[in-house]
Amino acid sequence: MNEYDSNRIYDTVKKIGYNKTENYEEANCYLLNTCHIRDKAKEKVYHEIGRVKKIFRFKKKPLVIIAGCVAQAENDEMLRREPYIDLVIGPQSYHKINDTILNYIEKKEKIEQTEFDPFSKFDYLSKIKNESGKVSSFLTIQEGCDKFCHFCVVPYTRGPEYSRPFNQIVDEAKYLVENGTKEIILLGQNVNAYENEKFRLSDLILEIEKIPEVERVRYTTSHPKDMTEDLIDIYKYTKKLMPLIHLPVQSGSNKILKAMNRKHTIEDYLEIFDKLKEINPNIEFSSDFIIGYPGEDDKDFNDTLNLIKRIKFINSYSFIFSPRPGTVAADLELIDKKILTERLDKVQNLLFENQMIMNKSLENKYLNVLVENLTDDGTQVFGRSEYMTSVIFNGKKSDIGKIKKIKIEQSNRSTLFGEKTNNSNQKVA
Ligand code: SAM
Ligand code: SF4
Repeated sequence: MNEYDSNRIYDTVKKIGYNKTENYEEANCYLLNTCHIRDKAKEKVYHEIGRVKKIFRFKKKPLVIIAGCVAQAENDEMLRREPYIDLVIGPQSYHKINDTILNYIEKKEKIEQTEFDPFSKFDYLSKIKNESGKVSSFLTIQEGCDKFCHFCVVPYTRGPEYSRPFNQIVDEAKYLVENGTKEIILLGQNVNAYENEKFRLSDLILEIEKIPEVERVRYTTSHPKDMTEDLIDIYKYTKKLMPLIHLPVQSGSNKILKAMNRKHTIEDYLEIFDKLKEINPNIEFSSDFIIGYPGEDDKDFNDTLNLIKRIKFINSYSFIFSPRPGTVAADLELIDKKILTERLDKVQNLLFENQMIMNKSLENKYLNVLVENLTDDGTQVFGRSEYMTSVIFNGKKSDIGKIKKIKIEQSNRSTLFGEKTNNSNQKVA
């Protein structure tokens, strides 16, 4: 979501004459968009500002803006602690950035903008075109969270759940497509909690699928509690929804899920998995795991390993529990560091093993790859399979934006390497 926000901030500041520079040592404005989900975020920001200060020591000081969730959480404290910072803008206030910058230039007034006002934000942004122009583009449809998992800062930094109006989203999708987008990734902290008037995520997906130039639709990140029947049902007839579902589970133990205030059990999770696999056995799952949540004992941890073996997740993320100030779990007793790293290693090895096996099984098979760009050295092209795995092959610039059928020759854990063939026959969910 920060990538989407950064692009939208750029679409906005372009209107008052700012342009991106490749050579940021020459910049006259420096904007840092920040994430607060795990610890050290705040210190990383001050460290980065220290670096910028050094770079500009003998040059004209740029206008320094801190945006994102660290800005939201720290607000005016940032202006007090680091006078080099000029403006602080939270994730629900960045539509005010142009006025804030212009006001600063005129009056040299250092301010923080950290109100939660997603309605005005998206109303404003809907009038500024999303210039992503990428083959695969993010589109935020929902923000914030009302679930208050005990470990998570999102409800405090992104505010309450807000779903954008249906037509506003469809219009943004159409504009993206006019500019070359072929894959739309619908975004939200709880994307499947989307609800605006009578519309749910399932309605949005079906509407976006109708845009002829859209080849693929994805959505992320979902909460198991919001995997409602209507959403599961569309996997029976969707034409463009991809067969990879990112559904964070966090832990394989009901005891820990309860302690985390997750509001779902492992049985609920398995029921969703079984229903979707029955509709289409090609559907695969990826997930997020928190390792070493306070109170996690060997049995709880083994439950997580067993769940990973049962579901065979692909492309998952795993993190050691990081206490976040202001959350319920902030002051709970932490598990010994050595145990935490051992557990993380075990989980990651198992997840990586699944990924290796999955990728190896694709060798000598044909995959449909949506080509996104040239590789850095310009000699090959890079794209993604239906399961989001990176694929590199001997393509040309003219392949960008097209789905190509590729024979996979080699693989490693994160990438598949292939050869171009003639046709595509995309597998959908
Ligand atoms: N809403 C989604 C859900 O309910 O699963 C997840 C969104 S959250 C912004 C992204 C991921 O960050 C979570 O799934 C979780 O694994 C991780 N995360 C959040 N807070 C964390 C913390 N305090 N320590 C470690 N990981 C954390
Ligand atoms: Fe954070 Fe997701 Fe829980 Fe909301 S549902 S508090 S975003 S982990």
